[in-house]
Amino acid sequence: MSKILKVKARQVFDSRGNPTVEAEVFSKNNSASAICPSGASTGTYEAFEKRDKYNKKYLGKSVLSAVNLVNTIISKKLKGLNVHNQEKVDALLINLDGTRQKTKLGANAMLAVSMAVKKLSSKIKKIPLYKNFLIKNNFKLPYPLMNIINGGAHANNGLRIQEFMIRPDRAKSFSDAMRICFLVINNLRKIIISKGLSTSVGDEGGFAPMINNNNQALDLIISAIRKSGLVNGRDVSICLDVAANELFKKKKYSIHSKNYVTVEKSISEYNKIINKYKIKSIEDPFAENDWIAWNKLMKSIKKVQIVGDDLYVTNLERLKKGFLNLSSNAILIKLNQIGTVSETLDVIKFAKIIGFKTIISHRSGDTEDTFIADLAVGTNSNQIKTGSLARSERVAKYNQLLRIEEELGKKARMNKIH
Ligand code: PGA
Ligand code: ZN
Repeated sequence: MSKILKVKARQVFDSRGNPTVEAEVFSKNNSASAICPSGASTGTYEAFEKRDKYNKKYLGKSVLSAVNLVNTIISKKLKGLNVHNQEKVDALLINLDGTRQKTKLGANAMLAVSMAVKKLSSKIKKIPLYKNFLIKNNFKLPYPLMNIINGGAHANNGLRIQEFMIRPDRAKSFSDAMRICFLVINNLRKIIISKGLSTSVGDEGGFAPMINNNNQALDLIISAIRKSGLVNGRDVSICLDVAANELFKKKKYSIHSKNYVTVEKSISEYNKIINKYKIKSIEDPFAENDWIAWNKLMKSIKKVQIVGDDLYVTNLERLKKGFLNLSSNAILIKLNQIGTVSETLDVIKFAKIIGFKTIISHRSGDTEDTFIADLAVGTNSNQIKTGSLARSERVAKYNQLLRIEEELGKKARMNKIH
């Protein structure tokens, strides 16, 4: 048994330049640290992110009180606990907080500590992090969902849909998946330049050209896939994150244009773009409380992956509700939506039991921490969504997956999408 000696936190910065929590956990001869990411288009039911609202020095965004809680109460409480008993560590954090949405300690303080404990455990066991989760052998690499055009809350171009992604469905290995995405992205860059548009990127590294029509973005991607010598819907699939919470008002949605229309009309518009662009996956097609709309969409379309992000917020109770309601067939997994590693693993386990695809995800404000790359492999999750091939906080996760693939050698296999 290795005991936790102390936990130390500090304020560092995320990829949007906002303060966030880094925690470092110490045992006798070792230490490990982890950094909490932060979202922009957050769901109402996510665990609470603690910020110093009234400290104007950082415009109300500093996390100094969360850092202080780690250095005092949390450090004291975790002292002497077995580093390898993640469930116990997380249960103690949850009890210490004692609130439904982790408002007392803050999920940012709790998660940084929880991830650092997991990392320290693998360091002491001298095993790679991905071998310290659910899967013990037959590891599978996830398919990347690469976000290549940014809109919504992640860019200021007026595009209604937040994320336009590609998934290299026929890639035989993770490195091959990366090569295919690389090709499409480079061709997309050339096409964007040829149209006299800007190749500047949004928060998740995808291009953010000044276009404001979803179909225009989809047409650009189709051209890039074609220019790469690939077939859309076969070699590469287009996937979307609508983040519809942001496009919802008085029971109506403005997904496909600025006009707010009914759920029925939105579904018929979805069907049009699914058919025209062979779209294979849609995340958050409707708002987080509109369970009926989700169910209607599920009943009206076949063979499309419907992903709950803000709908489930990596919360077991909400996932159970979605399963009973037939709301989706996949779940996005974000550690900081729930606040501890153990709770995240419980959600993944349940998703697997009910046959939902699991997609491990970054946040739009992310960091150099590559924990989610190992989590994706260590849980045999089907897909990983971690931005484009730009911005090092995104690329770092892909690079870590390349290292894992290399380490697995001949044993490395891609996961199943279908
Ligand atoms: P967020 O966006 O991190 O800003 O919430 C990512 C997503 O919606 O999937
Ligand atoms: Zn999302």
